[in-house]
Amino acid sequence: MKKFLGCVAGLCVWTAALVAAERGVLTQWSTIDALLKGHYEGVATLGEVKQRGDFGLGTFEALDGEMVLLDGKVFQIDGQGAVHEPGDAVRTPFAAVTFFKADIELALPAGLTLEQVQARVDALLPSANLFYAVRVTGGFAEVRTRSVPRQEKPYPMLAEVVKTQSLFTITKTEGELVGLRCPGFSKAVNVPGHHFHYLAADRKSGGHVLGLVTGEGVRVRVAVLREFSVKLPESASFDALDLSGDRSKELHAVESERK
Ligand SMILES: [Zn+2]
Repeated sequence: MKKFLGCVAGLCVWTAALVAAERGVLTQWSTIDALLKGHYEGVATLGEVKQRGDFGLGTFEALDGEMVLLDGKVFQIDGQGAVHEPGDAVRTPFAAVTFFKADIELALPAGLTLEQVQARVDALLPSANLFYAVRVTGGFAEVRTRSVPRQEKPYPMLAEVVKTQSLFTITKTEGELVGLRCPGFSKAVNVPGHHFHYLAADRKSGGHVLGLVTGEGVRVRVAVLREFSVKLPESASFDALDLSGDRSKELHAVESERK
């Protein structure tokens, strides 16, 4: 896509730079620790989010399910596991998105676990110090997901909500994992390491990924993101949060599968 800048002394200037500059940027609203503290007030509309990316993940106002942004469309996997396409006016309290362009590609064999997929991806990355968007497409023997039910005010902490999460095991499925890999130094702001949400190709199931087993034809594409932009909420409730302290253990408990 090119943008027309105008004509100066008969010289017309077109540039792809304005568009290209949007690639390689991870744009995020709010912080993961604010979400852990129960800050589920919407801070941006989905319309605003889509202006900053066509690929990413997050949640919805009132913690109303898991968000997948894929190929410019937002999907909501609600607390019952049903998939919706919410309108652009719906708001999000936390989302992280980018315009996806693959820099690294990899084919994966069948039979790998989530941890093995993550290790194969990590082995290809140029550095642990960058952000990455990770898109995994293909067949899966099994994807284990969760979603969270919509909350009412006063909002409980995320660790409390997750005790009531719904778990889903999706078997013999084709679809896409929409993921981010964030560096260790991003803790408190985003989720260090890999974080995947799943959307089945038939758009009938998905959620926050807790575990999986790969099937046939799995392809990984990774986009290297060297710019990280965080939009902090303009709200008195955000301003009043106590975001001091280390919530890493709480985050790990919230994001992973209980064993
Ligand atoms: Zn998630």
